[in-house]
Amino acid sequence: MEAAKILEEITRQVQTCEKCELHFSRKKAVPGEGPADASIMLIGEGPGFFENEQGRPFVGQAGKFLDELLQKAGLQRRDVFITNVVKCLPPSNRDPLPAELQACGAYLEQQIESINPQIIVTLGRFSMARFLPNARISEIHGQSSTVRGRLIVPMYHPAAALHQPSLKSTVEQDFARLPEFIEQARSSTPPTADASDSASDQSPADDKPTQLSLF
Ligand code: URA
Ligand code: SF4
Repeated sequence: MEAAKILEEITRQVQTCEKCELHFSRKKAVPGEGPADASIMLIGEGPGFFENEQGRPFVGQAGKFLDELLQKAGLQRRDVFITNVVKCLPPSNRDPLPAELQACGAYLEQQIESINPQIIVTLGRFSMARFLPNARISEIHGQSSTVRGRLIVPMYHPAAALHQPSLKSTVEQDFARLPEFIEQARSSTPPTADASDSASDQSPADDKPTQLSLF
């Protein structure tokens, strides 16, 4: 199946999903949006108030700041796919619980597999922890590492930077380095040494699974 079709199917499933408790607190689920062939994917934490109203990711204050950050990196929102680790608003905006992250993770995995981005920018620690479970954001923000054949770039969450003025310039500097990482991802061949399950040096598109457990 074509990536765009798979994404549409995931969106449909998320909009009516009841796999975790968060479906009780949501108004609109927020599946994520962007081009099906985006080479950069941004993964945040979860919908906030405005996202829950509109069903779209990063449309509040943090979203405005994210747009500015992308602009500094020479990117526009329409260039990237944006989603979250949980697709529904947690009550009182609390942190997502392990069971919720686990339940919603299947959707995120399917989105990553079908989009097959070269770079994943994680926004905040819950998103980072999916790829770098033992890392500390204060130590590795703005640095890239290769995880399962993709470049992972952990960033502070834009909302955290808005609340903590000392982080604002840090996150701005980190985003300003994105073009470097894009160049790095484009010029490097897909890794073979540290991707244990990658048996060849074929293009990453060849890794696409033909079977989708969700459907
Ligand atoms: N914060 C997030 O992590 N995601 C959104 O979609 C909005 C705010
Ligand atoms: Fe389903 Fe994810 Fe929403 Fe939970 S957060 S109800 S798993 S879409």
